[in-house]
Amino acid sequence: MRHPTPRDVWRARARIHGLARRTPILDDVELSGRLGTRVVLKDETVQPTGAFKQRGAASKLTALVEEVRERGVVAVSTGNHGRAVADVARRLGARATVFVSERVPGYRVRALEEAGAVVVVGGEGQDAAERSARARIVETGATFVPPFDDPHVIAGQGTLGLELLEDLPEVASAVVPLSGGGLIAGVALALKAADPSIRVVGVSMQHGAAMHASLRAGEVRALAEADTLADSLQGGLGEDNRYTFPLVRELVDDVVLVSEASIAEGMRHAFHAHRRVLEGAAAVGIGALLDGSLSGLPGPVALIASGANVDPDAFLRVLEGGPA
Ligand SMILES: *Cc1c(COP(=O)(O)O)cnc(C)c1O
Repeated sequence: MRHPTPRDVWRARARIHGLARRTPILDDVELSGRLGTRVVLKDETVQPTGAFKQRGAASKLTALVEEVRERGVVAVSTGNHGRAVADVARRLGARATVFVSERVPGYRVRALEEAGAVVVVGGEGQDAAERSARARIVETGATFVPPFDDPHVIAGQGTLGLELLEDLPEVASAVVPLSGGGLIAGVALALKAADPSIRVVGVSMQHGAAMHASLRAGEVRALAEADTLADSLQGGLGEDNRYTFPLVRELVDDVVLVSEASIAEGMRHAFHAHRRVLEGAAAVGIGALLDGSLSGLPGPVALIASGANVDPDAFLRVLEGGPA
């Protein structure tokens, strides 16, 4: 497939209607005061499965012709991507099978099943789960839905950027949680097409930020995973990354890393200021703004609050003041 373009983001927008929500922006008075310019949160927590991944899944599944979609879709994901694929498939009357490893906690398996997935425990680790998924695809002709490195997925995530331009036409900076880069690549495609001077900044956690390390090295690098509140940002870029690494290298202005303490501050802020439950991955931008990592960013600034799927016990511990 060719690289996604801004037009593909518009095409995705036309397709995802009714499958992913158009989300609101929330003005943040305290953060605006700190930065000296208007700061808003783009609230993706109201998506049907609680995260922006709904957009990419909807874009990908609606790009398949019906007879292909009827053979089913397959994902390898323990989190937001798997849930989104399951939910969109159910809405379209297709079958979604999600492969997970034995190590996945039970509450995550239940969440996938509630979203409509058939969950298959595909082996001991992530690699084994991926091998099982590939075998299933060969057997059944099902379609694999990648979590980020796919033109339709990237274009789907970019629809969030189009909405930002409508709701905040003066937007000067977008601050985007960054893992595999599907979200930031899509958002950057949309925003830079409207005005190349709009700044697009990625935020990852301090340990295990594979995109940050890869950008520095000038080639895709893998890093050891470390525990983090931003668990949705864990994982590498894939050895055969084709789309997100080149797009991020071309379009993204800067990537900053935040500490676990800052992520926790970000989560607490979202709860106290907006009564929003953000998972760690969604709070990295707020954390970076609060700890001074984003000083000097031109405004208005949009922070992408990417998702809400956090283990309740972990969330309570953060609210009570601990970093983890
Ligand atoms: C997947 C995810 C991200 C990161 O998106 P990428 O496209 O992998 O960069 C950020 N926040 C949440 C809540 C996610 O689920």
